[in-house]
Amino acid sequence: MRSSKSKKTIRAAVFSSGELCILDSFAMFKNKHLVDSIKTSTDRISFSIPEYNLIARLQDDNSFNVQFNEGSYIIKVEQKATNLGNAYYFFFHCPECSTRARKLYCIKGRYLCRKCGHLGYYSQKLNFYDRLLYMQAKIKATLKSKGGSLDRKPPWMKRHTFERLKLQEQIYEATYYYAAELEFARQIGGNPPRFEDILTEMRLRTMF
Ligand SMILES: [Zn+2]
Repeated sequence: MRSSKSKKTIRAAVFSSGELCILDSFAMFKNKHLVDSIKTSTDRISFSIPEYNLIARLQDDNSFNVQFNEGSYIIKVEQKATNLGNAYYFFFHCPECSTRARKLYCIKGRYLCRKCGHLGYYSQKLNFYDRLLYMQAKIKATLKSKGGSLDRKPPWMKRHTFERLKLQEQIYEATYYYAAELEFARQIGGNPPRFEDILTEMRLRTMF
């Protein structure tokens, strides 16, 4: 019962248009029952993206046969036994360069590693929204690496450094919303909000 329910969930998980879809090999093979049920189904469809007429079918060797509006390709999957040998974990191989990758990114219907997708690990190579998310993640990672979080000052960090990082994180957040609001306003032809209003909403107004 459980596996058929999960299968339904995955099948309904169709990506929306324009979204940067990320495949995570660990997540995809986590549920063995689900993987088996896809393999034994008649169409073997693991996921689809209507925007690109993309359909990915799971093969016996765990690779994906991807068909989309520009042709077809295979995403090879490597299976590795854990140290104890009682379980397996999985990695994709980038269809373009064959490099092992845990995550692949959908670029107009082609799943590629970060390098082939020209996504880079550096913030200047990410799009505007991703860059803001990246900068926020970086601050959170810095705090975490020093034993703290946005709610808890790391033991050895100076108070003003902590406050500055927190404020920066909030500004990235505000900018993200502001950009999204602007884009939305452009789409529907409405009046864009003022940045001050966004800051007020986020209780950041008094800081400027
Ligand atoms: Zn690649």
